Amino acid sequence: MAQGRGWEGAVLKLMRAKDFTLTVTGVEEVTGDYRRLHLTDGGLLAATGVHPTIWVRLWFDNAGKPHQRAYTLVDPDPAAGAFSLEFALHEGAASDWARAAQPGDTIEATVQGTGFERPAPAPSHVLVIGDPASLPAINSLLGPDEGALGSAPATVWFEGSPDGTAGLPFRTDPARHEIRHVPRRDAGAHLVARVKAELPALLTATPDPYVWIACDTLTTRTLTSYLRKELAVPKDRLHALGYWRAS
Ligand SMILES: Cc1cc2nc3c(=O)[nH]c(=O)nc-3n(C[C@H](O)[C@H](O)[C@H](O)COP(=O)(O)OP(=O)(O)OC[C@H]3O[C@@H](n4cnc5c(N)ncnc54)[C@H](O)[C@@H]3O)c2cc1C
Repeated sequence: MAQGRGWEGAVLKLMRAKDFTLTVTGVEEVTGDYRRLHLTDGGLLAATGVHPTIWVRLWFDNAGKPHQRAYTLVDPDPAAGAFSLEFALHEGAASDWARAAQPGDTIEATVQGTGFERPAPAPSHVLVIGDPASLPAINSLLGPDEGALGSAPATVWFEGSPDGTAGLPFRTDPARHEIRHVPRRDAGAHLVARVKAELPALLTATPDPYVWIACDTLTTRTLTSYLRKELAVPKDRLHALGYWRAS
């Protein structure tokens, strides 16, 4: 348990983190680079409840060392005690575990840090910047199931190679959600340039915009600072969280 995970685990434990054992019940190859696992939740959803974009910290093994990474719950079903997880695959211990996962495999989870504040007033237009790692969260925000942000139109700048994004399970509604595919180039600088060129006009054309950003940490930080400082987007109309660290 926490003791075996070093100071980080111990701190989470002190912060009343909860531990659950998840068991894989099925696997789906969505694309060559994207894998969905079905899991039973070990009592997690009954203890935590469900909110849009809910995520957990999973404890992978990395050459004998604990390796904690965050993943978003897909289709959480508290009555069944089950959910799915979707893994954008690349190199890394979490990806390796997901690639090899088979029914019966287990993984420990801690719930700490997740949350969701419904913006008020409800957004008149949602501006999203993300990539395959944040697709589960984007689906949860915009998808028809939860309707977390109401029925507002959305524009999504989605970063990734055309090969890597074909066949991804978008749950967006083409009638009101526009996906703008942006190839990942220059460590995210190309995405930043596209957003700077295209977002300001949309932002000023709507009364109650809401911006949601989840890309690599540096791109997320650059865009957040641009939106706050140069476009004066108020804090409560912008949610930003770096989802992965580019190396
Ligand atoms: C709140 C939250 C929710 C998240 N939900 C999901 C989710 O539902 N699905 C999902 O796939 N990811 C999700 N992520 C991102 C995931 O936690 C990271 O991608 C994580 O780094 C993967 O760990 P790893 O062990 O596979 O690779 P690491 O050991 O962290 O990194 C290994 C190498 O892979 C590179 N790398 C890491 N992540 C990515 C990436 N996404 N794309 C390209 N290169 C990468 C690194 O730069 C490094 O070179 C979420 C992150 C957060 C903060």
